[in-house]
Amino acid sequence: MTIAVRPEEAIADVPPAPLSSSPPISEEWDDAPRRPAWLTGPCPSWCDRDDHSDADKYDDRRHASVYRLFTLTAAEPHDGHVADDDDAEPPKLEIFLEQHYRESEPRLWIARDQTLHGWHLTIDEMRRLADLLNTMVDVAEGRSRP
Ligand SMILES: [Zn+2]
Repeated sequence: MTIAVRPEEAIADVPPAPLSSSPPISEEWDDAPRRPAWLTGPCPSWCDRDDHSDADKYDDRRHASVYRLFTLTAAEPHDGHVADDDDAEPPKLEIFLEQHYRESEPRLWIARDQTLHGWHLTIDEMRRLADLLNTMVDVAEGRSRP
């Protein structure tokens, strides 16, 4: 059995849409940045990357913090190779945290002059190195015995 409905009646039976200032959920999802398929969890709080993508190669699937440059004022500019150059700058250490998405904790990367020549330190190594440096500062300033 078919019931004929005039268009005016059909419209009248539809309840009015609720007034709301927030957009429908589907629109929020459309505006949210899309996460790559390999990134199954949230970024660590320290991750500064906003360019994770499905196109990232396996080795590039890592979180990274803001990097910091630390000027080594007591070092020869560029290891003495251009010491006579008036424009030579002292070397810098590039330091940042990184964590491959398959690793369980971050590592610290320390490299010289933004090169690939550097070292990764675990969290435990970072802590022990910081303790050693503080001990050496105390010795140097006479607050501790060698
Ligand atoms: Zn990240």
